[in-house]
Amino acid sequence: MKSKNIMELRLLSLSQNESFARSVVGAFATQLNPTLEEISDIKTAVSEAVTNAIVHAYPDTIGDIRIVAELSGNIIRVKVQDFGVGIRDIQQARQPFFSTANDESRSGMGFTVMETFMDEVIIDSTPAKGTTVEMKKSISKQDY
Ligand code: ATP
Ligand code: MG
Repeated sequence: MKSKNIMELRLLSLSQNESFARSVVGAFATQLNPTLEEISDIKTAVSEAVTNAIVHAYPDTIGDIRIVAELSGNIIRVKVQDFGVGIRDIQQARQPFFSTANDESRSGMGFTVMETFMDEVIIDSTPAKGTTVEMKKSISKQDY
């Protein structure tokens, strides 16, 4: 494989696109020859970021979600971007169990899950403009 590769995906914020997005990024990541556990970690993190864009960024509308995945050496970077309501206090949003949703299906653990399964999670957000979550993970080099 060449040392660098990029893919970009644009989706509407529909709940049925969450599993599609996680599968697409998972399939792209297989080019790095990851373990099943690493693939599963990446898919879980992508799923949390995309779910947030679907649920929180566009609470009453359907908007665009842009996903960019980049492979470079043994590193994958995944950017999940929306153009929705944004996050007022990023530090607070990152706290375990913090959620602005008052519905009981949200536990406030999405960002914590992303941080657990990826090496780095950078959140950039502007109220009324949108949010970008950038995640990075190194894939272990395996000899077969
Ligand atoms: P869970 O992920 O456990 O279902 P949650 O989505 O509330 O619950 P997190 O994913 O950790 O928890 O997000 C914390 C809070 O950050 C959310 O409740 C929401 O207020 C805010 N948030 C997260 N992502 C976005 C986004 N893309 N746009 C706007 N707000 C967001
Ligand atoms: Mg969440």
